[in-house]
Formats: sequence, structure tokens, C-alpha cells
Amino acid sequence: MNGPDALYLLKFGELTLKGGNRETFIKVLMRNLSVMLRGTGASVTRTEGRLYVSCSIEKQLACESVFSRLAGISGWARARKSEKTVEALMAASVDEARLCRDGGARSFKVEARRTDKSFPLNSYQICCMAGDRITNAMPAFKVDVHSPEATINIEVRERAYIYGTARRGLRGLPVGVSGRGMLLLSGGIDSPVAGYLMALRGMRVFAVYFHAYPYTPDEARQKVVCLAEILGGYAMGVNLSVVSFTKVEQRIKDGTPLEWATVLLRMAMMDCASTLAAGKRCKCLITGESLGQVASQTIENMTCAESRARLPVMRPLIGFDKESIIKRAVKIGTYETSILPYQDCCAIFSPPHPIIHAALNEAAALYEGLNLGSLLDEAVSKCQSIP
Ligand code: ATP
Ligand code: MG
Repeated sequence: MNGPDALYLLKFGELTLKGGNRETFIKVLMRNLSVMLRGTGASVTRTEGRLYVSCSIEKQLACESVFSRLAGISGWARARKSEKTVEALMAASVDEARLCRDGGARSFKVEARRTDKSFPLNSYQICCMAGDRITNAMPAFKVDVHSPEATINIEVRERAYIYGTARRGLRGLPVGVSGRGMLLLSGGIDSPVAGYLMALRGMRVFAVYFHAYPYTPDEARQKVVCLAEILGGYAMGVNLSVVSFTKVEQRIKDGTPLEWATVLLRMAMMDCASTLAAGKRCKCLITGESLGQVASQTIENMTCAESRARLPVMRPLIGFDKESIIKRAVKIGTYETSILPYQDCCAIFSPPHPIIHAALNEAAALYEGLNLGSLLDEAVSKCQSIP
């Protein structure tokens, strides 16, 4: 590498955080960024309110992919450094404006911020002068202060930086500031999105998948492994526990009326996930449930499932409709994998007339009658951890 060639500026999200929280936020954000940039040779520096990343031109796409997956930044932009003289700043602004115009923008405005009060021009004067220079150099590139197609940002801090319109970041909180959660990850569309939303609130996500081979084929398991990997791209890696649930499902199938199977299976999943969660020091369970989406997701049925959870159950999608969940899934890149046609649940657990408003006392009695304790212990002890 012949020295760093590309420079990026990253803006922190959630600027409302104050004091110690803010310092923790920034520390965790910087650590996450460094981990995600591993192998790119990029370097990270921090100044008041900003992070700067420099990398070689060959690594810029890899770095941009990292910025687009980094929780905790409100935006990022390719930037250029300038000497802190009026002349250098103006020349760099014209260069940046030219880049924006060549990229298709037809109008612009200039925004300036100056924290270095020793610089001879104030923000307003910087804006006016740069605006004049740009229109002189490119008369067809019009100033539009209300809805410009490009914004030329000039920042005069301990150094001077110029950048065009910033790309939107994921926002949210850096992964790791909100403790750990155990995601019940099926091969469906919803649960990966649920995990993503919790990661964006700063949670480190662990996942568990209940596999019932041969009722569910190995391809279904592979699909979940793949989803965990995609999710891990945003969540600083997701550790996946694959639990063989065949014997548990068999016992439920043989020991309960068909219409109760789904409710009892969900109860067993919550039970088992709670044990795994404790082992990973997780503080909550996370599911992809959305109220009323399917028969198992009524408030009564969720109450039955939750009665076997020994940690709070987070349901970030509870008020989302399917269409907006799908939109998110497409955006984060899990949708294509989620719709691969492998069953994540065998047919007996989707009975034609499932119980829709399960009574908790009845559910509890049926569940106790199944005596799942030792089967669940066995399932946990044999669970496979990936990676
Ligand atoms: P998804 O799209 O996430 O599969 P779904 O709409 O299919 O959800 P259900 O089948 O009722 O809904 O599952 C509800 C939630 O239970 C899922 O979002 C997931 O969190 C959890 N879950 C279901 N099946 C499994 C499984 N085999 N392993 C782990 N978690 C599961
Ligand atoms: Mg499902």
C-alpha cells in the first residue's frame, strides 16, 4: 500500500446521549468499526464529534460495505482534507463541487462549520465565498438553498475537511452497549429482521435454531446457518446454537391433541432457549412474532409460550405488518435466503385447526403432562455451536 488514498468521515448517531453514556457509545463504536475493518489496512481516528477512516483506493469498496452495516452512525461520506488556508479550502470546495456535478447533480448549496475560531472567515463567510467560487467555475451549476441536489460541506476543525452529500447510516446504537439477547431464529422471514432490529438497539445477538431432522431437512438448517451469517454482518457476528428437537417434537406429537401441538412446541422452545440464554449470559429472548400474523401469534398463545420463558421476551416486530417486515428483510439481505422453499417446521406443527385462544391453565397442564425435562436437558447438552 502506497499510503492511504481514500478518506471517509463518519458521523455519530444518537447524539442525544450524554456524559458517560456518550463516551461508552463512542468507545464501543470505535472498537466495532476496527473489528469490521480488519484486513482492509484502514486506520481510524477520532476528533470531536466525528470519526475519520483512511484506506487505500483498492480497499474503498470493502470499507464502504462496512460503513453501510455499522450500527451507531447517522451518516458517512467520502471526504477530502485541505490545508487550513482560505485559498486551499476554496480550491478543494470547487473540486468537490465538480465531483458532485459530474455525478449528475444540477444544483447545490454550501454548508460550513467552523470550530477553529482562529480561521480568518466565519461559517457564513466561508459559505458565501465558496458558493461564489463554485458558480464562477461552473456557471450552469446553480445555487439552491432550499432543495439542492448536492450539498458541499466544509468543516474547519483542527484540520479542514470537505465532503459532498453524506450517505445515510443505519443509526441506532453500537452493538454491545445494550447487553446480550438470545434470538429464536427460524428459517423464516421475520426472525432475522427481529434480530437485526435488536442489534441496532445495541444488543449483542446470540441465536438458537430448533432443528427436527428428518422432519425438517438438512437444507433448512443450512438456511438458518446462512441467515445467522448475514445477520452477523450487522451484529458483529452471531453465534448460532443448533438444537436437535426431534425427540421433543415426537413426544409432543404423541402426547397431545393435534390442535395443541404448535402452542406446546412454542412453550418447549421458550423453555429450552431460556436455559441456553443463561449459559451465554443473555438478558432476554427475542422472537420474530407479530400480533395476529398467524394462528400461533395471538395474545393468548404468546402468553402460553411466554409462561415457559425465564427471561423477558422481546418482540420487536409485534406491531409490524408483513409488508414492512419484508421490506426490511430485502434491505438487509436476508429475504432471498428466507424464502428458499425448505420447511422450518414439520406439517404436524401446522395443524388444520390449531388452537387460537389457548387457555393458560390448560396449556400448563398439558405441558406438565409431557414431562419434557430430561429431553430438554439432553437437547441442550448435545447442541451444536456455530461458529
Ligand atoms: P419466522 O418468519 O421468523 O419464521 P413465522 O411467521 O414463521 O416467523 P412462527 O412460525 O409462529 O412465525 O414462529 C414465531 C417465532 O418463533 C419465530 O419468529 C421465531 O422467533 C420462533 N421460531 C419458530 N420456529 C423456530 C425454530 N425452528 N427455531 C427457532 N425459533 C423458532
Ligand atoms: Mg417460521
